[in-house]
Amino acid sequence: MKPIKTQICVIGGGASGMMAAISAARLGATVTLLERMDRVGKKILATGNGRCNLTNQNIVVERYHGQNPKFIYGALGQFTPQQTVQFFEMLGIACKVEEEKIYPFSDQASSVLDVLRYEMKKLKIQEICNVEVTHIIPINKGFSIQMEGRKEIVQAEKVIVATGGKASSQLGSNGSGYQIVETLGHSIVKPFPALVQLCLEAHFLKRIKGVKFKGEISVHGNQKFLRKEKGEILFTDYGISGPPILQISRMASQALQQGQEVNIQLDLFPDYSSEQLEILLHTRWGYDPDKSLDFSFVGFINKRLIPVILLEAGIKNIQKPCKEVQEHEKRQILKILKSWTFSVKGTQSWRQAQVTAGGIDTKEVDPKTMESKKISDLYFTGEVIDIDGDCGGFNLQWAWSSGYVAGKWAATSCLSKRKK
Ligand SMILES: Cc1cc2nc3c(=O)[nH]c(=O)nc-3n(C[C@H](O)[C@H](O)[C@H](O)COP(=O)(O)OP(=O)(O)OC[C@H]3O[C@@H](n4cnc5c(N)ncnc54)[C@H](O)[C@@H]3O)c2cc1C
Repeated sequence: MKPIKTQICVIGGGASGMMAAISAARLGATVTLLERMDRVGKKILATGNGRCNLTNQNIVVERYHGQNPKFIYGALGQFTPQQTVQFFEMLGIACKVEEEKIYPFSDQASSVLDVLRYEMKKLKIQEICNVEVTHIIPINKGFSIQMEGRKEIVQAEKVIVATGGKASSQLGSNGSGYQIVETLGHSIVKPFPALVQLCLEAHFLKRIKGVKFKGEISVHGNQKFLRKEKGEILFTDYGISGPPILQISRMASQALQQGQEVNIQLDLFPDYSSEQLEILLHTRWGYDPDKSLDFSFVGFINKRLIPVILLEAGIKNIQKPCKEVQEHEKRQILKILKSWTFSVKGTQSWRQAQVTAGGIDTKEVDPKTMESKKISDLYFTGEVIDIDGDCGGFNLQWAWSSGYVAGKWAATSCLSKRKK
């Protein structure tokens, strides 16, 4: 059986793989893209709750994580967020900004995928779906690429690995890229789920699942403060969710990996100091001292939280009149409202995680070209590398920038060798 020959083979048709393929093909290289799912870009469709938060106006290194976050400078310097917006505008995606986050005007992630696929077709990029790459074998000039259950092989001068991490494997990224590159001698920083909901240790979660509130969450590992975030928080039957939870989840997940005791503290009234809240409660209790304690909170906090909070404060008779509430009980109520502490027992699974922390060790990759320092002509891009970002467009920006750069340098080197 004849091999499929191509100059550049991109493995993985996610955001970074498609960008790498386009970038290489625009320079004139012949490109073949291999994707294990039945179509490319499934994850893009799920991004930003179906709206695709393409990038962010404030891309800074502090919003990236991994063993060496500064690794991002090489790629982001060559393909900036401004260039990303321009790239998509040229493909037809008008962009809009919401609190620094950039979305397509259409509010449809599918429109982002549509224009990328249109461009790939225009550039005659060969797209082969339903093929899972199992091995990349260095041969005399380039690589031989083997696929699960297929006799035919792909032969390429350059290979770009864009297989993503392990997060949301139902959308394609099943972690197979790690095994492929480990076989080639690369090291993998142990992956763990990031941007993921947290599972809490608390017997009353079923009673309060579905309760939403605007609050502040802080996370602590072995009693050391790690990070805090404000926003809409949601109790679930397993624990807690919502945008601020996703933001702090990487810290919690990492601390759990390291065997630390992880706690979160919830502030249900972040806009009030403890003193202000105390005055407010005393005023409410003063309106009608004969009112039952639990009823005195109606109209102030979610009704389903009231009995749980009072019982957690150690008050057995939650229906006693306000005038009978002891000072130490008031202090306990206040403590729960301002710093309700929960033990974190884990995170939700890889299926629920939006991003993978860990991946190919950045020490083994050239940040300017994304080429392997161990094997010439092998490139990496996107989430498969040990770089992950906060929620808010940071991960896609990394996928676009690293993809653009890997494609550019793979094609440049390929075509310059041809000329010689
Ligand atoms: C629900 C959800 C919402 C998100 N929302 C946002 C957002 O709004 N903004 C943002 O910045 N980020 C968001 N992210 C994160 C962002 O989508 C990812 O970081 C980014 O898509 C990673 O791109 P990638 O190309 O590196 O990997 P992926 O998109 O995971 O693509 C990897 C591709 O490689 C294929 N593949 C894997 N192994 C093989 C193999 N062996 N052979 C062939 N093909 C293979 C996979 O099927 C997949 O198509 C979200 C993620 C999720 C899950």
